[in-house]
Amino acid sequence: MSRYFSERFATLRPYVPGEQPQDQQYVKLNTNESPFPPPQAVLDAVNAESGRLQLYSDPDGRLLRRKLAERCGVGEEQILLGNGSDEVLYLAFMAFCDNGIAFPDISYGFYPVLASLLNLEALRIPLREDFRIVPEDYFGLGRPIVIANPNAPTGMCLSVGEIESIAAANAGHVVIVDEAYVDFGAESAMPLIGKYDNLLVVQTFSKSRSLAGARLGFAAGSAELIADLNTLRCSINPYNVNRMTLAAGHASLENDEYNRANCKIVADNRAWTAEELKKRGFTVLDSRANFVFAGCGWIGGGELYRELKARGVLVRHFTQERIENFVRITIGSCTQMEILLKTIDAIREELSQ
Ligand code: PMP
Repeated sequence: MSRYFSERFATLRPYVPGEQPQDQQYVKLNTNESPFPPPQAVLDAVNAESGRLQLYSDPDGRLLRRKLAERCGVGEEQILLGNGSDEVLYLAFMAFCDNGIAFPDISYGFYPVLASLLNLEALRIPLREDFRIVPEDYFGLGRPIVIANPNAPTGMCLSVGEIESIAAANAGHVVIVDEAYVDFGAESAMPLIGKYDNLLVVQTFSKSRSLAGARLGFAAGSAELIADLNTLRCSINPYNVNRMTLAAGHASLENDEYNRANCKIVADNRAWTAEELKKRGFTVLDSRANFVFAGCGWIGGGELYRELKARGVLVRHFTQERIENFVRITIGSCTQMEILLKTIDAIREELSQ
């Protein structure tokens, strides 16, 4: 730390993203990226747009917002674009959380970091013994709430009815539903937006649309919530989404069938991988996301992570209490999952000798 660093941030512990190795070739199952490249139409759109990089991007992202609004069944003024959904979450935490914020104790690691950055009091609601989020635990908390649905890293999800009950029971506060993984088999709360003006639904193009590297996320909510977010966005970085990413997002929405087909493959691979892991003695939580959270009696989570990494397979391990015996495994292609399972078998074989 330099002697110039603001004292306010002296104890801030930044989010630690999953490893993004630039040197070695790994079977990369650690940051929930898609195993599939974006469709050709997206690459063409990005290429065409790159010839106009001397010009700023549209600060309103009009074309893309219009298309998204159509898709989500809301008005254009009800959509905010962000540089990844992480940025959208940052703006939402900044905009609506004077009373602090509540979230599950085991959830996306960025929530506590954002709360700490913005000096918000964080109320962590414990997941139940079986890692479930129980809606009643979030009723009348007297503060905004953020829930990842499906949750990360468990992959478990709530029904739209359950999300609705949380929105209804917290009418005085914003309820943020982070749907980063919703396209892999959960239900979106998007249809509730017209009914609940405190509901903010956040989604991303990073996972189901193969665009993690483009950094594109968005929020949908009442026009008033979105206007507030825009006030902050335009006070920080009005050109927050670059030209190529706007073009990529637009082309991606026009190629939805490709994305949907890929989500289906991931969901099938998830079911298969979960079964295979169970055969090998793993407990696998019921995931609706593009990852599974798996723990096992014959090897600790940290050890499994290290042994897999040593053999060229990257998964994610969290040292947090209650989940230290689990690893989070991104669901990739069939070939990737076969390599994962073979590698697990090899590790088991070696340990038994
Ligand atoms: N929410 C959750 C629950 C996530 O796991 C992630 C991915 N790390 C994000 C939001 C952020 O995704 P992005 O910024 O790539 O849109």
